[in-house]
Amino acid sequence: MHSDIKEILFTEAQLKERISELGKEISTTYQGEDVTMVCVLKGAVMFFADLVRSVEGNVSLDFISCSSYGDSTISTGEVKIRKDLDHDVKGKHVLVVEDIIDTGVTLSALLPLLRKRGAKSVRLAALLSKPDRRKVEVPIDFEGFTIPDAFVVGYGLDYAEKYRNLPYIGILKEEVYQ
Ligand code: 5GP
Repeated sequence: MHSDIKEILFTEAQLKERISELGKEISTTYQGEDVTMVCVLKGAVMFFADLVRSVEGNVSLDFISCSSYGDSTISTGEVKIRKDLDHDVKGKHVLVVEDIIDTGVTLSALLPLLRKRGAKSVRLAALLSKPDRRKVEVPIDFEGFTIPDAFVVGYGLDYAEKYRNLPYIGILKEEVYQ
């Protein structure tokens, strides 16, 4: 275990097992219909890579990078796109894949934007959810794990761009960011 990690929440094996279950749920939901899976960079990249391989059927991949304006009073429609999708989502089933839903501000802005662009459906898969921190309600269609209010890293999730390469998800020691 990395010396900056206080506790491992989910091991590589636990992540693998849960993601394979989510893949089955997703395959059942779309019933062979084409789906565009959208990775929200960068945190979701590991989850995305594993999840797409556990989904059966015709899947296209696309990538987006965005940030909310960080104003908790903004509930919808205000999202800064740093890197937009390469393909038009009009008429497509879109499944947004995110690492963690914390306050919900980012995704509560991104999902309506994709709907406004004419997607046939927009659903959300999130590996982690911290419901205690929610400021805006975001329905999660496919949820990996609910976690307590702690700052987690690993498996794509960073602190100052570090720890993304850890194969597990762990709680960062407080002294690292204090
Ligand atoms: P929200 O808009 O839901 O508050 O924020 C979502 C984003 O905040 C996530 O995509 C992620 O980048 C970041 N975030 C929220 N909680 C954590 C956490 O515990 N660890 C890490 N590494 N990032 C987090």
